[in-house]
Amino acid sequence: MSTLYRDAAIADGRSPTLRLGMSVLVKGGVIEWIRPADSEEDPGDAEVIDAGGATIVPGMVDCHSHLTLPGGSHWIARGNDTPEQLLRYAEHNAKLQTNSGVRWARDVGAPVREDPFDGRKRALSLGLRDRWHGHADYPYVRAAGSWVTRASSIPLGLAVEAENADELLRLTLQQLDDGADFVKLYLDGPDPNTAPWSADEVRRVVAAVHERGAKVTAHAGRLSGSRVCAEASVDCIEHGFELDEDCVRLMAERGIALVSTLSVLKSWMTFGQTTTIERFASPEGRKRVADRWEAARSSVKLAHAAGVLLGGGTDFGGGSGRANHLAWEVEALTESGLQPWEALAAVTWKAGEILDEPEAGRISEGGRADFFLVHGDPLSDPSALWRVWRVAWAG
Ligand SMILES: [Zn+2]
Repeated sequence: MSTLYRDAAIADGRSPTLRLGMSVLVKGGVIEWIRPADSEEDPGDAEVIDAGGATIVPGMVDCHSHLTLPGGSHWIARGNDTPEQLLRYAEHNAKLQTNSGVRWARDVGAPVREDPFDGRKRALSLGLRDRWHGHADYPYVRAAGSWVTRASSIPLGLAVEAENADELLRLTLQQLDDGADFVKLYLDGPDPNTAPWSADEVRRVVAAVHERGAKVTAHAGRLSGSRVCAEASVDCIEHGFELDEDCVRLMAERGIALVSTLSVLKSWMTFGQTTTIERFASPEGRKRVADRWEAARSSVKLAHAAGVLLGGGTDFGGGSGRANHLAWEVEALTESGLQPWEALAAVTWKAGEILDEPEAGRISEGGRADFFLVHGDPLSDPSALWRVWRVAWAG
């Protein structure tokens, strides 16, 4: 079964310029060829889709997903829902992602629960990854297992909690034993100005995880944790809302990536209007959120200028965004100084580099046919990514 997408534009996030008038033949989930529409090869008996006026975009990577959680203004409370309910959220999130052009979900934290399907007690994201594998209507999942935190850092029952550095190491490696693809540390402590672990303690974990052939990423909203992450050479920092010059310089030198989640703050700003929750809606709350947004934008700007490898994520579920909001992150990145095509790169091929998945977020002949079609030019206007017309997933 083959399909010809005829006479579309192509936006691959590699340059600011669209390729116009292109046809793409897909056969058995693989891109057979890409040709100018006026010099197509014989497509045989392919079904022809007239894609005139649409733009083909590589399937996006949401670098910061929490598949088992729904997001919204009560996002933290939802973590205590039953395992059955969490898995239902995941089913819904899979639909939201795939229908909005997201092909890859990098899951950076799920509660540890007994999975009703296989009875295994581990991060629920791991069973989902395994069960969804090979199904075109689900995202490709790479999952970190659960968050590994210092005790009392986040609400009880969500994360795996370590009391000391030895436990930190043991519980982190436990995630790999459970089947995690990479691990996720949590570097915001109970006191925002003090990182919960020292650079030496984190370095020991990084060495042990690398020994096992996996990568370490770390949640660090505050500067204190980001500094420790940079000194300890983790592979990636999530959020990084308060980076400074020294931090981004170290990150660039050591090849430490940043996954931005600016749209979390965008969503908090909307809660100032749509909820009565004090910390969003009160005048002080709005001010605090606005200040954090400015700081986060500056951090991304610094990181980008320093040449840090940048990926984008929604933080849906673990934050307040929803699983079909990745376009919001791309918009937020452009508001932080990236060109729209650079922001698109952060959720396509650069995100693929962070995942170590060379095919993720790319369109090429002989490569997997994972792309979607929108209206408008996302290389100059990220809002085009909201206007999804159809998706083409290889499965
Ligand atoms: Zn998160």
